[in-house]
Amino acid sequence: MTATLYWLQGGGCGGDTHSFLNVDPPVVDLFQTLKVELLWHPALSNASPKTHHALLEAIVNQEQALDVLCVEGAVIRGPGGTGMYDQMFEKPKKDWASALARRARFVLAVGTCASFGGIGAQGEIEATGLQFTREKAGGFLGSSFRSQAGLPALNLPGCPLHPEVLSGALSALVSGVSLPLDEFQRPLEWYNLMVHQGCTRNEYHEYRVEDRSFGERGCLFFHLGCNGPLVNGPCNKLLWNNRSSKTRVGVPCVGCTRPDFPQDYPFFETRNIEGIPLELPNGVSRPHYMAYKGMAAAAAPQRLKERTTLV
Ligand code: SF4
Repeated sequence: MTATLYWLQGGGCGGDTHSFLNVDPPVVDLFQTLKVELLWHPALSNASPKTHHALLEAIVNQEQALDVLCVEGAVIRGPGGTGMYDQMFEKPKKDWASALARRARFVLAVGTCASFGGIGAQGEIEATGLQFTREKAGGFLGSSFRSQAGLPALNLPGCPLHPEVLSGALSALVSGVSLPLDEFQRPLEWYNLMVHQGCTRNEYHEYRVEDRSFGERGCLFFHLGCNGPLVNGPCNKLLWNNRSSKTRVGVPCVGCTRPDFPQDYPFFETRNIEGIPLELPNGVSRPHYMAYKGMAAAAAPQRLKERTTLV
């Protein structure tokens, strides 16, 4: 059976679309394989505004079935809750988002802005995610929202999201496979592991061989602000372009799947107390960490200290 899909572009940069266009297999083949009929995507559809408007009305009036609603970008509520900063067919886009979400069998928040509000969540545009504003549950649709299939919106954060997370979620939903979620409504399948897991710099982390400047081979956690041990995400499991990841090429993870992304302190530096990072790897106690890391640094093999081990 064919599943219909509508893609709503809210307040965002379009980066998730660009990411998704790199999916393997290519989008057209993927949709054919999954029997997904694309009703509308702002970058891929060429229907006239009149036809597009008629389609929207047909969905809202229950004349056109909608199986999957993908929302990319935050819902803009400003100024003053009117939503008029972001309009479509002379209505605030937030009103379309609400009407479409209530008609869809499944709702996917594509990227961090749609999931949690992202960059605009603290500004005058009053941006929010579908069911969260940063870490606070509720968001635009409210915590009790359920789609026609009885599910909350699936949050697929990432700035941008990894294309295979979206293709995997679509495959699961149209095939009837359930996706257990974490406390932020992210599927465990892709968000139950840390960016740190699978990073090729792990041995350097283990022995506290720390980089203080870019372009070295050591770990980026202690001085350069790497979020790898703090955030959940698949970046070192599903490699980008099937090839690499930020941390593998020496760029600290900026934690783009975190509900509170972007952080309100500078990137690329590690906040610390007496040289020990303020934020420790998830679940680690400070006294144990200090004892362990002191011993680990003393035991570091020379090949790591000299950074001759390749990453
Ligand atoms: S660079 Fe980041 S992700 Fe890699 S080992 Fe160090 S802390 Fe973990």
